[in-house]
Amino acid sequence: MSVAKKYGHVHGEAFMLMKYACVCGHRETIWNSRDGVTPFGMVCPSCGKPNLRHVNWQHDVYAPEHKLQIGQRFWRDGTPDEAEAIMRRRIEQEQNTCSLKPKIAEELIQSIRDGATDYKFRNGWPIIDQNNG
Ligand SMILES: [Zn+2]
Repeated sequence: MSVAKKYGHVHGEAFMLMKYACVCGHRETIWNSRDGVTPFGMVCPSCGKPNLRHVNWQHDVYAPEHKLQIGQRFWRDGTPDEAEAIMRRRIEQEQNTCSLKPKIAEELIQSIRDGATDYKFRNGWPIIDQNNG
């Protein structure tokens, strides 16, 4: 049983300080600021490739009182507005290959906002943020 679950949290990665590493050598400690899921991998800020991975997860540190350093990144819940913005970007990028009728696109965006279709955008979906002081 994970430490976080022993403290009564739903998700094993709740309030954990987590090490992320990339094959390019980038290393980073990211804090999960809430009792919610986190992705296993993401785009690396050093090399730009999607190879930044959660590593040494057995050594995650439970830190509910963690004070973020300036510039440190952390996971938080994404908002419906952020889900909509991501979805609109995705639709725009794909307009060249498959043109979605505007009405369909709007319906899709509304359903994303409602958290109905895409698992990633259920309530509590994770977004990476940075402490800017
Ligand atoms: Zn990298």
